[in-house]
Amino acid sequence: MELIENYQPEYVKSFKENNNKCLCQACKKEGNGFPFVTLRWKNQQRESLSLSCQAAAKEILLNPKAFILHTTVVEVVNNFNDQISNEVEMLNQIFINNVIDESLSYRESLYSMSLLLNKIQRRDNLNHFDVQELISTSEELAGLISAGEFKKHFKDLPDIPEFRQRLLVAMGNIRLDIDLPSVQKMSFMLKLSELNILSRERITERLIELEEVAKNNIDLFDNVDYIFKNIVIYKIYHHNFPDLGQQSITAFQHLCEELFEIKMLLLIYLSDNTELDFDVLSRFISSYYRWSEQSAKPVPINDEDELLYGLAVL
Ligand SMILES: [Zn+2]
Repeated sequence: MELIENYQPEYVKSFKENNNKCLCQACKKEGNGFPFVTLRWKNQQRESLSLSCQAAAKEILLNPKAFILHTTVVEVVNNFNDQISNEVEMLNQIFINNVIDESLSYRESLYSMSLLLNKIQRRDNLNHFDVQELISTSEELAGLISAGEFKKHFKDLPDIPEFRQRLLVAMGNIRLDIDLPSVQKMSFMLKLSELNILSRERITERLIELEEVAKNNIDLFDNVDYIFKNIVIYKIYHHNFPDLGQQSITAFQHLCEELFEIKMLLLIYLSDNTELDFDVLSRFISSYYRWSEQSAKPVPINDEDELLYGLAVL
């Protein structure tokens, strides 16, 4: 009998304690076993929950301690997944350390991720990298962060609104089954679906208007920064992201797009409403992932450098 480690994050533990019967749309539809997920590799097992369950999303997103891991030992179940290599685990740990660094916003932590991914991208063989090289890069980054230089570099990144405009147009295809009072919901849905019929000039203005709403709610977004960080950690934990190879660069791009889309959904809502409580926010994110799981992943809409593109839409 072979034994491996099993990780249970705090969000799974507290979901089990608090939610005997979740009655959200996703749970009603998916039935038994949902929203529990078990991720298996040859050398470890991770417990998780689907973000598309509303009660699970609250546990994953709203608890700053959601990702504290409880470790036990379990028997190996036959599966076809590979072993997680030490390199991948180490890389994931470096990313997580940057995300949980309280001196960085979620956007800055993704910037640090892009710098490390850039190192990997430059290698001839994407499936192998030098662990020492990554450790020294992450130490250099830590030096820049503590000297305050890192934030300046991030601010100096080129602003490319065209990428965000293109993504905003595509957001007109998003269909959210979200639980909101009907008048609020109607107005929100109209504003969302009109995005792919607006003229180019109007989209340019719309993006500026929404970014203005973000500036007017800067304190709110500061307060919910940890929720965005929880999405990033969830992605790293849940998908073992980024695994090695070109996929990691594409996964980074998709993650940046998702975070942009979520932020824009919240801004569209905030352009009609003066408040956004955490419960509504978590419902938006959960509905978004429910929609995204059911829709085919769109073909990337850019032919640009994926890392630069990802940063430009953050
Ligand atoms: Zn549910």
